[in-house]
Amino acid sequence: MDTPASRSVYVAPSLTSALDALDEGGAAAAPFAGGTWIMRAPIRHELLKPRYVAIGSIPELHGIKIDADAVEIGAAVTHATLAAALAELSEFNVLTAAAGRSANPAIRGMATIGGNLATTAFAAADCVPALLCLDAEVEIASRGSRERIDLEQFLTMRSTLAPGWLVQRIIVPRQERKTAHARLPLRQAGDYPTAIVSLAVSLDDVGRVQTARVAVGSVEPVARRWERLEDALVGHPLNAAKAAHAAAGLADEFTGRDSTDVPAWYRVRVLPGLVRRAAAALGS
Ligand SMILES: Cc1cc2nc3c(=O)[nH]c(=O)nc-3n(C[C@H](O)[C@H](O)[C@H](O)COP(=O)(O)OP(=O)(O)OC[C@H]3O[C@@H](n4cnc5c(N)ncnc54)[C@H](O)[C@@H]3O)c2cc1C
Repeated sequence: MDTPASRSVYVAPSLTSALDALDEGGAAAAPFAGGTWIMRAPIRHELLKPRYVAIGSIPELHGIKIDADAVEIGAAVTHATLAAALAELSEFNVLTAAAGRSANPAIRGMATIGGNLATTAFAAADCVPALLCLDAEVEIASRGSRERIDLEQFLTMRSTLAPGWLVQRIIVPRQERKTAHARLPLRQAGDYPTAIVSLAVSLDDVGRVQTARVAVGSVEPVARRWERLEDALVGHPLNAAKAAHAAAGLADEFTGRDSTDVPAWYRVRVLPGLVRRAAAALGS
């Protein structure tokens, strides 16, 4: 039978048709967004899925809604579009930098925010730590169901979700805060970052840190918050040198991931320097 899901690539015209095709395809099907990760599957010695459901033509996955209390981002929004849309909102500097400096311009024009969050084996995804420090939530959908969960929870469950789901939107609450994203690529541009530090702080009226969010990407297999460093920053004026000193004292809680290009210890060793850079970018 020639159903959408029986083709190798089905270009879904609507969210409903995409969810139907993913449901019919079961474990043999997966969303195809920008394709920048999927196209490199052979290089990583991974099998391609028998069926892909292309979601790039679905209008409701391309919206960016900026309200007074939240920003909602459709899963098929590209890194380049996202960076341009948020460029004037300084509270989102961390996400603008994450989306606007990842990879290279050609990739940024294709890679999507949904793909960035959904790619389980991609430790160096820039938008994941940026969205972690912004307390983002993720809306996932499957045929007949929709659920909103916080990003931290999504990261723990994404590889065990039953077939048929997709990321529909990302919801980022708005708050008065200063944010920055510091990443260390081995080369000037175009390669994956060795380590990433995303930082978001709110300050009280005498300049002390009231709330802090620090998220670390690319060091371990999955990005996560650095809660002990957050606690160390709260209650003090934000000072780049002191923040780096605190980070150096706490960095042993990370177990770096090994790879052919970067040894595990190096990813951990560079964290205090990245914390310093992120804090300095906030004018401290
Ligand atoms: C050379 C190179 C360097 C790069 N460097 C960086 C970098 O430094 N930082 C960075 O952040 N990114 C980088 N990227 C881009 C990276 O591949 C994307 O950010 C992202 O991880 C994949 O997005 P995509 O839309 O291309 O997803 P795809 O390749 O289409 O899909 C990737 C995976 O996510 C799934 N998926 C996609 N969309 C959804 C959805 N809405 N719901 C559920 N599952 C979904 C797919 O089924 C697949 O398993 C680089 C890419 C290349 C080629």
